[in-house]
Amino acid sequence: RVKVAGRRGHAFFTEDMLSRARNSISLQLELREALQEQQFVVHYQPQFDLDSGEIIGVEALLRWDRPGVGLVTPAAFLPAAEESGLILPINEWVLREACRQAVRWMVGATPPLRVAVNIAPLQIQRENLCTLVMDVLEQTGLPPYLLELELTESILLQHAEAAAPDLQELRRRGVHIAIDDFGMGHSSLTHLKRVRVDRLKIDQGFVADMHRAGSNDLAIVRAIINLGREMNIEVVAEGVETEDQARTLREEGCHLVQGFYFSRARPPEDITRLMSGEAS
Ligand code: C2E
Ligand code: MG
Ligand code: MG
Ligand code: MG
Repeated sequence: RVKVAGRRGHAFFTEDMLSRARNSISLQLELREALQEQQFVVHYQPQFDLDSGEIIGVEALLRWDRPGVGLVTPAAFLPAAEESGLILPINEWVLREACRQAVRWMVGATPPLRVAVNIAPLQIQRENLCTLVMDVLEQTGLPPYLLELELTESILLQHAEAAAPDLQELRRRGVHIAIDDFGMGHSSLTHLKRVRVDRLKIDQGFVADMHRAGSNDLAIVRAIINLGREMNIEVVAEGVETEDQARTLREEGCHLVQGFYFSRARPPEDITRLMSGEAS
């Protein structure tokens, strides 16, 4: 009996692996084509200051406008893009596109919007991030202080050695650095010792569970807000979905927010309209 189960288990595993590999390879081919055919688009999710009620920035979020399918979110294709290395040209495109767009928004918006771009692990491992970013800023004409780079805690954890000098240099030149999904890593505080940053983005999981009975999430959110205050680092709460969450965050001293309650990521034209007060 044991033998049969084992053989079945084995066969199932192999088939599953095969089909996954096949899917992954065809997805990689499609992604290459998507890049060539310019099927990627960037949507922008606004960040608000609850005290002033103003948009203070946007996060650039990648979408794939896949023919016959529609908009595909990054979770479905980022792993394949990372695995194949295609994330490098894709993310460079996102960076350039976001900077170009931020320059367009400079006209009219006072103060101008800062745009945040997510950085991939491979970009830290393989690229000279500082050179790349400074080149893109120069080519697009975006002042460094209007760009923010978001690095997740896990990227910092795994690549602190490689990342630290580049990030320090970028910061020296005025580019802002944010730690994304803050609180999820295993040694959050260690990163802050090694890399100086401008912002902490509270992971949306903590915000989601803040009001759940018996959870420690509110305590964790408070601790992150206090940490930011003590270290003079701005704190942004991500994934704010309800009025209750927004109120609690504000009461706790976190007035910078991003989340579906305020706005989802939207095409650039919608942000332009939002800025001029035509829509909300
Ligand atoms: P992230 O950087 O933590 O981005 C926040 C994600 O949470 C976005 O998902 C956003 O749409 C979603 N979100 C925002 N507010 C809420 C909310 O109130 N509730 C919920 N449930 N979700 C909310 P998205 O756009 O699907 O992106 C997922 C992840 O993919 C991002 O997480 C980021 O790690 C990665 N990503 C997105 N764009 C890029 C990119 O250009 N380059 C790289 N390397 N990664 C990217
Ligand atoms: Mg992010
Ligand atoms: Mg995040
Ligand atoms: Mg995330």
